[in-house]
Amino acid sequence: MSNKSQVRVRFAPSPTGDLHVGNIRTALFDWAYARHTGGKLIFRIEDTDKERVTDQYIQAAIDTLKWLGLNWDEGPEVGGEYGPYLQSQRLDIYKTWTEKFLNQGDAYHCYCSSAELEERRQHQMKNHQAPGYDGKCRDLTTQQVADYKSAGREPVVRMRMPKGETVFVDAIRGEVKFEHEYVPDFVLARADGSPLYTLAVAVDDILMKVTHVLRGEDLLSSTPRQIRVYQAMQVAPADYPIFAHLPFVMGQDNAKLSKRNGEVSIAWYREQGFLPEAICNYLALLGWSPGDDKENITMAELVELFTVERVNSSPAKFDIKKLEAINGDKIRALKLDEFLDRSLPFLLSAKIISGSADEIKVLKSALPIIQERIVNLAEIPQMLNFLFVKDFTVSPEELPKILDDASQQVLKVALAKVESLTDWDHQSIEAVLRKALIDELGLKPRIAFSSLRIAVTGSHISPPLFESLELLGKERSITRIKAVISK
Ligand code: GLU
Repeated sequence: MSNKSQVRVRFAPSPTGDLHVGNIRTALFDWAYARHTGGKLIFRIEDTDKERVTDQYIQAAIDTLKWLGLNWDEGPEVGGEYGPYLQSQRLDIYKTWTEKFLNQGDAYHCYCSSAELEERRQHQMKNHQAPGYDGKCRDLTTQQVADYKSAGREPVVRMRMPKGETVFVDAIRGEVKFEHEYVPDFVLARADGSPLYTLAVAVDDILMKVTHVLRGEDLLSSTPRQIRVYQAMQVAPADYPIFAHLPFVMGQDNAKLSKRNGEVSIAWYREQGFLPEAICNYLALLGWSPGDDKENITMAELVELFTVERVNSSPAKFDIKKLEAINGDKIRALKLDEFLDRSLPFLLSAKIISGSADEIKVLKSALPIIQERIVNLAEIPQMLNFLFVKDFTVSPEELPKILDDASQQVLKVALAKVESLTDWDHQSIEAVLRKALIDELGLKPRIAFSSLRIAVTGSHISPPLFESLELLGKERSITRIKAVISK
């Protein structure tokens, strides 16, 4: 989509909370586009709203991008030629431009109070007029200004929207047109001089020589305002960035996913044990496709195949089931050492292990038997707890399930059989138990083995039974079976 020789694309979040699925989908597409074209990714923090953007959220945003492997070429921590990359450190720049716009007559002071604006808005609504600023302060006389000032009013700065329309070509949506009738004069700076988003974003995209703006569709309607700022900056149209508005990400219920909804924060997915490569793989498919039905792609393939032409303009639906399926695939694809590394933080923080060499040895045998079965890493502590727990007992919820006569009978037969086993490997254990419980007692496997599973692992959900018994060892297995028989 580019006729600009050096691609410079930016990811510019306003971290008012943890980054969410929509933000990261944007970051991922920005990153993929920069990497595909050999261009630069600029990471800019839009933190002019200091009440809502906190240092903690800024740090979390930085950490999230790093965790996902979305590295940037300019921005926090790495610096760059066009910094600073935190808007709160660029306030002087915005002030200079605001003054310039005022001097040029592109902008003007507006003294209307919020109460007055609200009253007029209500009036507009009642009369079915387009809501928005009505231009009251556009051409105040010197006397009117003096009166407002002596009444102690502090003005905001508004951009003057000329009559007409703004037309631009969006790389995803084609030609987009906005009639200025619906783009009222907008605020550039508050009464205290602090800039609003529209001013800061437009000034920075120009000063940072951004060539492409790939961002969510929710920002499409702010584009004509940004273009108005470029005009006031006297930028030639050929030097405007190319816009590409990515389709909305909807929830399952077709409602828009929201930033304030904790369920969609990437931090939440991380805690649930989703792998970064699975999140990126899945998010890449929200609005883009590699061109065939392929759904499992690597980051390298994404970089190789990513083009804006392949981005769809219709809304994408977020489907956690699909993300889980991809996560399961990525977990199965991990080599043992890698799987161990990724699992350890979950086991350590759940205090299932302390990280000793003995425990790691056990884990190396245990992880392969659960690798096929889990959807996310957060399931691991619960699944492997039975191997490490010091004072093992069957939970009070599970215990009653194995106290009936039939279960006790199964456990007694199983105990006798495993006690006499000399080779303690899962094949031998399985052979002897199948013969006794299925062939001889005629039980259904599910019935036969569930009592034993609860007795030795403490839960009816566990890794495969015979492998679990092998890992647990003969002595501990026998002790656990005996403990529930005597009850
Ligand atoms: N800072 C804006 C936001 O997080 C996005 C800026 C942009 O991409 O233009 O909503």
